[in-house]
Amino acid sequence: MLYLSTRGHPERRRFCEILLEGLAPDGGLYLPESYPHVDDATLGQWRRVYAEQGYADLAFEILSRFIDDIPASDLLGLCRKTYTEAVFGTPEIVPVRPLEKGLYLEALSNGPTLAFKDMAMQLLGNLFEYELARRGEQLNILGATSGDTGSAAEYAMRGKKGVRVFMTSPHGRMSPFQQAQMFSLQDENIHNIAIEGVFDDCQDIVKAVSNDLDFKRRYRIGTVNSINWARLLAQVVYYFAGYFQVTQHNAQRVSFSVPSGNFGNVCAGHVARMMGLPIEKLVVATNENDVLDEFFRTGVYRVRAGADTHETSSPSMDISKASNFERFVFDLLGRDADRTRSLFGEELSRKGLFDLSHDPLFKQAAERYGFVSGRSTHANRLATLQDTYQRFGQMIDPHTADGVKVARAFKQETTPMLVLETALPIKFASTLVEALGKEPDRPARFEGIEALPRRVQVMPVDVQRVKHLIEAHCA
Ligand SMILES: *Cc1c(COP(=O)(O)O)cnc(C)c1O
Repeated sequence: MLYLSTRGHPERRRFCEILLEGLAPDGGLYLPESYPHVDDATLGQWRRVYAEQGYADLAFEILSRFIDDIPASDLLGLCRKTYTEAVFGTPEIVPVRPLEKGLYLEALSNGPTLAFKDMAMQLLGNLFEYELARRGEQLNILGATSGDTGSAAEYAMRGKKGVRVFMTSPHGRMSPFQQAQMFSLQDENIHNIAIEGVFDDCQDIVKAVSNDLDFKRRYRIGTVNSINWARLLAQVVYYFAGYFQVTQHNAQRVSFSVPSGNFGNVCAGHVARMMGLPIEKLVVATNENDVLDEFFRTGVYRVRAGADTHETSSPSMDISKASNFERFVFDLLGRDADRTRSLFGEELSRKGLFDLSHDPLFKQAAERYGFVSGRSTHANRLATLQDTYQRFGQMIDPHTADGVKVARAFKQETTPMLVLETALPIKFASTLVEALGKEPDRPARFEGIEALPRRVQVMPVDVQRVKHLIEAHCA
């Protein structure tokens, strides 16, 4: 299996070569040269693997179709070490439960940080440790977070050999629960840096450090952002696991509704569908930051300016552009790399938008690839949280509520609809209190985390200070 760039760079690379990287050298995103096809017999076999051997072995079956430069026994070991009941709370790892008739929730939110990013990040931590040991190298991960990504990365990389994490976050702006989760980590290889600014300041610092190529090389700076192919690949697995839980045989089809921001989660659904998983619709659910909903309704992809990016009550979906979207557009355009490059490399930077509304290929987004979309607002979110609690006695988180709200518009009588539950409500308690007048339940292992000792350094918006910190720890 070789990987190409969506912008046409002639080089082809193997999985472990792109594992520790972000963008391809030409600024494109990595994708496999072709998607492995899963026939009916294989799908039946995977159904049995999940039922009889569990999620980790299913993950191995799927990943081994995309990874041929890690010996099979090692890859199986990495999957089994990652997807355990001890880490993810249940033997199913991603248990499905019914809501109303025909509508289900698939829980991706039972990992260490209670958000779906653990599903991929936990595997990434083990893959990084394995590959770095094999190469005899070290990596310093520098990131910026407004909440979920940073904590998922820290919990995945804590105690891992060869890896240090330097995570910037806007001082005092994450939810109290998120701050407590990150800052209470005492591991020596984890460094929390609270920047006296906003999230954009943190991102600018990361960019400035990464643009200093000499520094980047000398201190082996890397990232774990959502365009990383290994993260996307790990997410493909739970589309299969969800399908197996609500169907009895392979002639049945299902739909998925996915609370979306950077298009990473739902892009994994697209890959699963391209492999042959019987998915009817992929429902892209956005919040008020509706770049993606606008595209799927109109064919116009228009990135937002910073000032037009709203701070919402489903904050992990607050994006101005969707960093994984180029992967789908590349497929939609029949894998035309020249066109992808001109749309994403040129038109977007010149005009801030591109328009496929008159292109017959745009129709295929729905007809051939199953994509439909909708948006949800703060008022919708509160109403959905209330309704779900009153009718079913279930508390869900604000992001999942966006997924439920939009799913209802596309539900069909005969096709089960799975809404991906991307976080637990305790992470976003203030919105639950606003909607329901009460605090969500807190899993026992998080009792009292706000009172734990904290390990965090507060710094002004100053690139030099962050660089000095990295230097000091790498001496
Ligand atoms: C990251 C995140 C999302 C958005 O996922 P994308 O892959 O960026 O589309 C949705 N919900 C929660 C809780 C998240 O943390």
